[in-house]
Amino acid sequence: MEYITNIAFALVLMVGIVFFARNVKKLIRNIRLGKEVVANDNKPQRWKNMARIALGQSKMVVRPIPGILHILVYLGFVIINLEVLEIVLDGLLGTHRLFAGLGVFYNVLIASFEILAFLVIVSVVVFWIRRNIVRVKRFMSPEMKGWPKNDGNMILYIETVLMSLFLTMNATDFQLQQLGAAHYVEAGSFPISQFLVPLFEGMSVQALIIIERSAWWLHIVGILFFLNYLYYSKHLHILLAFPNTYFGRVGPKGKFRNLDAVTQEVKLMMDPDADPYAEPAGDADEPSKFGASDVMDLSRVQLLNAYTCTECGRCTSECPANLTGKKLSPRKIMMDTRDRLEEVGKNIDANKGSFADDGKQLLDDYITREELWACTSCNACTEACPVSIDPLSIIMDMRQYLVMEQSAAPSDLNNMMGNIENNGAPWPFNQMDRLNWKDEA
Ligand code: SF4
Ligand code: SF4
Repeated sequence: MEYITNIAFALVLMVGIVFFARNVKKLIRNIRLGKEVVANDNKPQRWKNMARIALGQSKMVVRPIPGILHILVYLGFVIINLEVLEIVLDGLLGTHRLFAGLGVFYNVLIASFEILAFLVIVSVVVFWIRRNIVRVKRFMSPEMKGWPKNDGNMILYIETVLMSLFLTMNATDFQLQQLGAAHYVEAGSFPISQFLVPLFEGMSVQALIIIERSAWWLHIVGILFFLNYLYYSKHLHILLAFPNTYFGRVGPKGKFRNLDAVTQEVKLMMDPDADPYAEPAGDADEPSKFGASDVMDLSRVQLLNAYTCTECGRCTSECPANLTGKKLSPRKIMMDTRDRLEEVGKNIDANKGSFADDGKQLLDDYITREELWACTSCNACTEACPVSIDPLSIIMDMRQYLVMEQSAAPSDLNNMMGNIENNGAPWPFNQMDRLNWKDEA
């Protein structure tokens, strides 16, 4: 009988981990729908980027107030979850405060967890006020209505509940320690939860144990729930920010990726000595499709980008096209890519592992041509992103599809491209007339 709670705990833990593993598998399967790209060069720089941007949150503090609050929540969440290790071991072994033997170090740990838990609650309250009362502009965009808004709030509620349960658990534990209850060893230092103790004064030992055990169970079940909620939420970035910053761009900022096959063709065209009838000498494989019209045409890094997007809107708030009232929002580009990828993933699940054509694609059904052509390719969105996401690369790949597969560029661009092809310059003048300006008065 005495092992029933341990067995129940092991079962709950197993269910939580199995579901999480299933979600991770699905996530990897979906990302692998994209094209394989080499993103493993310059490893020292990649590790440095991951340490600086994901671990060190270096780009968050560009906007100091939300940046510092975010760092507090991030630190709090990561460090307090060290406590989870003790909770899991206690649950499996039937012990209580297993690490209490660490003495003073344990007291310092518990005290710092409590202070961080309190700071997390304060930060979350400020975030909630910014989103719901101050209504910061970047959270009010059209793409932030419905699920994205609810998801943002849901995360704040879950974090508040988890931290409150942690403090309640400690407050009742502290009270039980004072009352000398069996199994409640005197351990820990409680600089925050001690202020909650008056709420429980006068309660019987039995009632306190019920509250302490309930808070303990709800805390760990809540963490397991949150772990599984991540897959459906923008909060997935707490895990994916690390691989995403590692696989992010390390080359020169804003450099466009040219297709080898096209580069060789252009070089041939520009070479006055080239034999126009010769077979192409290059070893570049001609792609079966130019550019991207759906998520399967994008690279795995771009799909990882889509899952990592935190929906913070820093990109959109820097985007000159968006700021001047155009329809484009780089955040929406990333959200649409993720939504379409999820749709494709569900399609594959429903069709026993293979994709059945659903008559839809990322282009037009999610991202419109108007959005794509509104981009100035200034790279400000990529520069602003705190987790190294590159919305511009998706926009350029989709434009490449429109131009090279559909000849569907706006007429101004078509004229310009025709002029470059025929006249060697963007202007509608014959090459022979280039120097006419010198004869004008
Ligand atoms: S590159 Fe395009 S999407 Fe990104 S900020 Fe500039 S205009 Fe906006
Ligand atoms: S792409 Fe980056 S900056 Fe834009 S919303 Fe997503 S995480 Fe924020």
